[in-house]
Amino acid sequence: MAEHESLEFGKADFVLLDNVSLEEFMANLKLRFEKGRIYTYIGEVVVSVNPYRAMNIYGRDTIEQYKGRELYERPPHLFAIADAAYKAMKRRNKDTCIVISGESGAGKTEASKYIMQYIAAITNPGQRAEVERVKNMLLKSNCVLEAFGNAKTNRNDNSSRFGKYMDINFDFKGDPIGGHINNYLLEKSRVIFQQEGERSFHSFYQGTNTFQLLSSIDDGADFKAVADAMKVIGFTADELQTVYKVLATILHLGNLTFGVDGDTTLIENSKVVAVIGDLLATKEENVEKALLYRTVATGRDVIDKQHTAQEASYGRDALAKAMYERMFCWIVGRINDVIEVKNYDAKVHGKNTVIGVLDIYGFEIFQNNSFEQFCINYCNEKLQQLFIQLVLRQEQEEYHCNDPLFSLCTWLQHKGIFSVLDEACMNVGKVTDKVFLQGLNSKLVNHAHYTSRKLSPTDKSLEFDRDFRVRHYAGNVVYSVVGFIDKNKDTLFQDFKRLLYNSSNPVLKVMWPEGKLRITEVTKRPLTAATLFKNSMIALVENLACKEPYYVRCIKPNDVKSPLLFEHERCRHQVEYLGLLENVRVRRAGFANRQEYPRFLQRYKMISEFTWPNHDLPSEKEAVKKLLQGCGFEQDVAYGKTKVFIRTPRTLFCLEEQRTEMV
Ligand code: ADP
Ligand code: MG
Repeated sequence: MAEHESLEFGKADFVLLDNVSLEEFMANLKLRFEKGRIYTYIGEVVVSVNPYRAMNIYGRDTIEQYKGRELYERPPHLFAIADAAYKAMKRRNKDTCIVISGESGAGKTEASKYIMQYIAAITNPGQRAEVERVKNMLLKSNCVLEAFGNAKTNRNDNSSRFGKYMDINFDFKGDPIGGHINNYLLEKSRVIFQQEGERSFHSFYQGTNTFQLLSSIDDGADFKAVADAMKVIGFTADELQTVYKVLATILHLGNLTFGVDGDTTLIENSKVVAVIGDLLATKEENVEKALLYRTVATGRDVIDKQHTAQEASYGRDALAKAMYERMFCWIVGRINDVIEVKNYDAKVHGKNTVIGVLDIYGFEIFQNNSFEQFCINYCNEKLQQLFIQLVLRQEQEEYHCNDPLFSLCTWLQHKGIFSVLDEACMNVGKVTDKVFLQGLNSKLVNHAHYTSRKLSPTDKSLEFDRDFRVRHYAGNVVYSVVGFIDKNKDTLFQDFKRLLYNSSNPVLKVMWPEGKLRITEVTKRPLTAATLFKNSMIALVENLACKEPYYVRCIKPNDVKSPLLFEHERCRHQVEYLGLLENVRVRRAGFANRQEYPRFLQRYKMISEFTWPNHDLPSEKEAVKKLLQGCGFEQDVAYGKTKVFIRTPRTLFCLEEQRTEMV
């Protein structure tokens, strides 16, 4: 019996469950996890459970088994999805995307790497040097981005602290010719503060320096490998040096403290300032001035206003965070310069098609949720909406152009309260977090997904002047407004921008173009963090929406990184908020598979005496009907104009088995 039908390993597709209930779903998920079957389908969606152990299922031999196969011909695997996306791209000229979702530590980044490795392995059979170069760059870029964008957290030793969307461009032969990376919302606050047991970004742990900013020192990331990867990608020696200098500056900034003497704010350890001046290729006194004063324009006059010690500390931290974030974006930009498609002439070579891979932070509910969680959860809400739209759209389109029995599933749709929240967040002026909360309360008083203590006075789980609660699709999240305004404004004094722009290190200078403006020339207020994030999410969703989507839904089985433990409650919660059960229901109401008549016949004609070796029926459609009637699958199929629709995967699996017996 084919493995995917064997009961021992549970059902390979949740659509095959006898009853679609949460209990059966969970039982199947658990059984498969325990049997080492970490992937299961819901139609064309892959559900993945993090195995927390090395699996021998990603090697060359496995790749060969999936190459060019149809989804249901082999046990569920990421490779099958990658291959499906690749085939759609190559055969049908479609831009596709693979959206990987799940919470921190669920296995998204590992999945994205396996998918990329698979695509790299199956392409460029002709071994063209230029294509090999591109593939190498794409794979190397992962290593660099992980060094600068990942960190050890309490949930994941190698947690991505940024969102990543990577396009891979293919030529008419189906070989990679370039790519592009978009990065989203780096958690830059990690540079100055880490929770107990967590670390700053891997990139900081290369040396043996002792700095205030690092709560523990070890050699975590293999910096040599990273430096080598950067060299391969094309970072120059000067650029690498500058990267080290920025890292060192940030660490030294962490050692800097401020004091007061009468009316004067001063730097307590001024030796550090000299070191920073050196690192930044600028005068010591310029660094000192930027740390202690801000230049303000009052009408026509420009004056230097001294910071209080508190303001100076705020400025120092903002500088450390901004320098890191800027450098990260600059690194991504440099990688893009190198991997971007060059010299491709669509007129000569045909359309250049794209596979996008999205690996983005999953839904987060912490003890204390702030602005960052708000953004991340907003992002997930958007992606979930898209998922719903796309699944529905796909089903709809197929039915319309093929018009068999068609029933539209109505599915829960959320109204976006997020735009209202964002608007309130942008109109801040000089308001405090408290005033901001009052604004929310008055604007969202009637909103079904919003609650606060003021609006619901008896609700003791909320604090009066601090909390509001949003009902997300994934659950209720209480957000504390503390820090919202500040994080959203994300102020970095202009003086720092000018300081860095005026560095005599040209690499550093290009990271800070806006430092060119003189104080009197700075008129526009920079966009808020929420606006920037929201705009980038809208662009992302628009981009995904015009591609053919494939989904990987990752589940984290436990919080202790154990390969043995399937924590039922923890998993159930994820299954619920990922909407997996609804997903199964839609799939069952719809059809698991559809194939064009000639193709179907080609594959299964040996099963029936009426079609083997040839048929004498008036059309291929009639021949397929005859074949399926003969097998007794009449109840499970519908006939469209050009395609046959198969309702459950079971039928497909049976067909596959009969076929295997015949050949
Ligand atoms: P996420 O990106 O969702 O936060 P990761 O992909 O970084 O999670 O996975 C967290 C950890 O789980 C990895 O560092 C690895 O130890 C383990 N892991 C994830 N996926 C797999 C897999 N397919 N096989 C083996 N281990 C895995
Ligand atoms: Mg990750």
